[in-house]
Amino acid sequence: MNTRADTVLRCSGLLKRFGGEVAVNDINLCLDAGEVVALIGFNGAGKTTLMRLALAMTRPEAGEASIFGQNVATAGPQQWRRVGQMIETPFAYPELTVAENLWAAARLHGLTRTQAPGAVRAVTERLDLGAYTTRRSSTLSQGNKQRLGLASALVHAPRLLILDEPTNALDPAGVVLLRDLVQQAAREGTAVLVSSHHLDEVARVADRVEVIHRGRLVGQLSPQGADLEHAFFEMVHAADCDAAQSAAPENRSGEVA
Ligand code: ATP
Repeated sequence: MNTRADTVLRCSGLLKRFGGEVAVNDINLCLDAGEVVALIGFNGAGKTTLMRLALAMTRPEAGEASIFGQNVATAGPQQWRRVGQMIETPFAYPELTVAENLWAAARLHGLTRTQAPGAVRAVTERLDLGAYTTRRSSTLSQGNKQRLGLASALVHAPRLLILDEPTNALDPAGVVLLRDLVQQAAREGTAVLVSSHHLDEVARVADRVEVIHRGRLVGQLSPQGADLEHAFFEMVHAADCDAAQSAAPENRSGEVA
């Protein structure tokens, strides 16, 4: 397990069950500053649950997650101010305008009254939201809501960025923009954890691709690899075969045949 000083996010032995069903199973994962790690997996593989555990949005049954060296269960404003996130549907106050939402996000992440206007202006420009600043967020299209969610996650220049399927609802220009934003954030030293179903997209931004399957991290893929799709399916198939083999009666220790 990586214990370097520049480790920004560390997950150790995370386990989460809903009812009897295991959603996240003994996951160990580390992200260093400046690293982009992509999580790929089928629907229901456990991507969102893992991210929610990393953000203390849900509690693990076993294991722990830490950000900037602090267990998320006890992390305070000093740590959370350095985190930007967008999980599932982007959050925005529906009655507030785009500019007001971004102002709120900036202030909630600790930017001062002096710092906030410049940061809001910059992120508005960066996400191409200039035409919508006075629009209530409830009236935005899905894609622009997504852009607002991303802008809210980025306005305070976080050192850890966690994005759950951020390309959802974005048009091609938005996808390119997001890719640039992620790459720029990483160059500036931000650790980025991003989930996606789009293997091609992931290959363009990630330093490392972690495959999650049935709640487990089952291997890593090289983003530079020749046929990422093929390698992904091979990896999940191998994981299924391993699981089937260990579940076979003759492999169950302590069981009488
Ligand atoms: P998708 O790609 O479809 O978004 P995912 O990889 O993000 O999927 P999760 O949302 O983490 O997957 O779900 C993992 C498993 O946990 C699924 O079986 C899901 O049904 C279950 N699960 C997630 N959240 C809850 C919940 N609040 N209550 C019950 N089960 C849940």
